[in-house]
Amino acid sequence: MEDKKSQRVYVKTYGCQMNFHDSGILREGLKKKGFSISSSAAEADIIIFNTCSVREHAEQKVFSDIGRVKGKTVVLAGCLATQVVKGGRKGKKTAPRLDFYFTPAELNSIPDILAGGAGTRNGLPQPGSKNPDDASFNRDISEKTGTIKISEGCGNFCSYCIVPYVRGTEKPVLFDEIINSAKKIVKEGINDILLLGQNVNSYHSPDDPGKDFSYLLKSLSEIKGIKKIGFISPHPRDFNDKVIGLIAGNDKISKSIHLPLQSGSDKILSSMKRGYTSKDYIALAERLRKACPDITLSTDIIVGFPGETDEDFNMTLSLLEKIGFNSIFGFKYSVRPFTEASNFPDDVPLEKKKERLQVLFEKQNMIVNKNRI
Ligand code: SF4
Repeated sequence: MEDKKSQRVYVKTYGCQMNFHDSGILREGLKKKGFSISSSAAEADIIIFNTCSVREHAEQKVFSDIGRVKGKTVVLAGCLATQVVKGGRKGKKTAPRLDFYFTPAELNSIPDILAGGAGTRNGLPQPGSKNPDDASFNRDISEKTGTIKISEGCGNFCSYCIVPYVRGTEKPVLFDEIINSAKKIVKEGINDILLLGQNVNSYHSPDDPGKDFSYLLKSLSEIKGIKKIGFISPHPRDFNDKVIGLIAGNDKISKSIHLPLQSGSDKILSSMKRGYTSKDYIALAERLRKACPDITLSTDIIVGFPGETDEDFNMTLSLLEKIGFNSIFGFKYSVRPFTEASNFPDDVPLEKKKERLQVLFEKQNMIVNKNRI
């Protein structure tokens, strides 16, 4: 690549809010290195695909998008890059040509590597060359919210989930760094913050375990200029009364809670290694609603997990009815490499998964419409 720094870079992002946050930080890092950020792939010289690996469908989309790129430098970044590097796509279609791979842990080194300022290892970047000037927060697309990553990775090893394998186990950010990021956000004229992590409510500062998630929320709410604090995603098992009390009693803490359920069947929850039963989940939702009647609850559901019978699925539908979520995100189960569930027989046929997903959404629509009347 000649005259790299004058080149235009387009960053295409897939998947979760965490990836959008990472892409925002990445764009800032690229700008600091003199690259110009392009708003379209067509006019860019370099395209960075910041990818998600949580569902197979998302991966297929990435490789089909990459396959259409001609005559540009192609960079595969994020979870899918880890999967390719670790050999998780053996026998599966990848892209015809990839110029660079960067795992999530290596994202900070992309600007340096593309600018030619750091070495490469067989075409792969040297990991960990973190730019000390990197911003630790990002503006969301609406520019009204500053996102702060409070931890990276997850050590829960839910049996279906690839995250611990591609992002590593949980690495919390130092409490002081998060507080500094929040102060910087306020200085930028932004008053709302969104805390990001794969499992936000298991947060403990690495230098002081006493500084846990409730302590963090409370401390952030005391920063002058901060008006709203949201967070995604908490784990039902790690929700405690201190956090519930803060949601109920502190006007700055968001009352929209995304609480991933995944299934209403205890057999499936156990096989998923979620660490709670349907009864635990219902009890938590009741505690939240009792403490804070105007709370809104949303959730994630996976249909067609190995071994899920019609009876198990009906338990999920009943739980939907019982809780009355304000919104849900439903997904068909897909086998993820490296995971424990990849050794289970994927025994729910695709047609059945599709049918269940449709029934799930119909049920949810019915519940929402009923609650509107
Ligand atoms: S809590 Fe489970 S599903 Fe969520 S990121 Fe961690 S391992 Fe994956």
